[in-house]
Amino acid sequence: MSYHKFKVAVIGAGAAGLCAASHVLSRSENFHPPVVYEMSDCVGGTWVYTDNVGRNDYGLPVHSSMYKNLRSNLPKEIMGFPDFPFDTQLPSFVSHNDVRSYLEQYTDQFGIRSHIKFCTNVELVNPISGANGDTKNLWEIISKDLRRGTHCTERFDSVLVCTGHYSDPYIPHIPGIEHFKGQTMHSHEFRITEPFTGKNVILLGCGPSGIDMALELCSVAKQVVLSHANSLLTAPLPPNILQAKAVERFSETGVICGDKTEYPADIFIFCTGYNYSFPFLSREVGLEVRDHRVTPLYKHIVHTTFPTLFFIGLCKTICPFPFFHIQISFALAALDGTHKLPSKAEMDAATEDQYQTSLQIGIPHRHFHKLDSLQWSYSAELAQLAKVDPLPPTIRKLYEENKVIRRQDVCNYKNYKYEVIDHEKWRIVKPKSL
Ligand code: FAD
Repeated sequence: MSYHKFKVAVIGAGAAGLCAASHVLSRSENFHPPVVYEMSDCVGGTWVYTDNVGRNDYGLPVHSSMYKNLRSNLPKEIMGFPDFPFDTQLPSFVSHNDVRSYLEQYTDQFGIRSHIKFCTNVELVNPISGANGDTKNLWEIISKDLRRGTHCTERFDSVLVCTGHYSDPYIPHIPGIEHFKGQTMHSHEFRITEPFTGKNVILLGCGPSGIDMALELCSVAKQVVLSHANSLLTAPLPPNILQAKAVERFSETGVICGDKTEYPADIFIFCTGYNYSFPFLSREVGLEVRDHRVTPLYKHIVHTTFPTLFFIGLCKTICPFPFFHIQISFALAALDGTHKLPSKAEMDAATEDQYQTSLQIGIPHRHFHKLDSLQWSYSAELAQLAKVDPLPPTIRKLYEENKVIRRQDVCNYKNYKYEVIDHEKWRIVKPKSL
């Protein structure tokens, strides 16, 4: 165990950054209080709803992708951090405001707020050498106070990047888009349903956002076409939601899908996900993002050339808050010596092995960070290496149950009531009216 006290920077005060800050604060024997940089004026990250799209008051891209009526797609019984449950009075599927309030309460409960530099945008993260040697094992962060317009440079032993990955829309090229006379947008910009009243809407992509938005829009739109390359959703859908093969090209007035059917469209929405984006990392960091895979990262977290740089929450299709808790435990264990990281060569070899295995089991390159059911063995392993308690088994069970119920009853799954009796037992109650 090392007795050096680490100075840690946390970038972002969304769920991941707040969780990182609370863990650092709770390990005061090994860590100084963290410095948390947050470019907005509040905590909560993507859970802070705004009517705005495009740029914010400081000229930076709007971060949040929430729409006004959004309710969680996971029950609150498994959504919270393991040491801080949601209010039991809330329904299982909570509104974005409830999640934001939860994160506000978490911030105060764990004394995080005074460690956050609000309205402070991290502009550069750069590795630098310590006083006595060539090894670049320190970090310099240049940030901008957005209210004053001033810059500040600070040094750290370690950086935890907690900046989220639902802000930079991924928009694939579709032939003919230049001829389309309707409106196009990305799900990142969707806020309210009113502008869609009486319209023919096409949604491309049927991940959680595509499906949620189709269900939201069908109450006002004339017709909603959910176009996707997956197998068809089998659950009953409202009559004005159609499913179609993936869009092949645009016409002037609509789209032609893979089955050659043409659908009229007034508005076309890309529900095609997001890019990983780390504009503040210096070139020297050498992080590469190629077709939605970030390298060189060990266990999706540790930069193998600079093993004091960590990325929290990069994985997709996970149970986010509990997952962050485990990843952060691992990162801090790697820093304070509770877990000794392998050499760079060993970490790179293990990552390549994991990548090749995931290709062999049919996971495409672009989904390397999409864990889904692999998240359970992954987080159990991290917990073991970090010497912390694994996640309670109910999280896995209820997450997997929710997946099944959502598939079977996509229109109503958010009305089910979940109840955790203890770490092993639970109950799911279907609403009486269904
Ligand atoms: P974010 O919440 O995005 O926070 C990142 C923070 O970093 C932001 O506050 C941002 O301002 C800050 N930041 C970024 N760059 C900088 C910089 N350069 N300098 C300073 N600060 C910076 N999860 C669930 O558990 N349940 C759900 O039902 C659910 N539904 C979702 C629905 C939608 C539409 C979306 C987009 C996501 C949903 N998620 C859901 C996933 C959600 O992203 C995670 O739950 C979680 O909130 C992500 O937290 P984060 O801290 O990683 O990122």
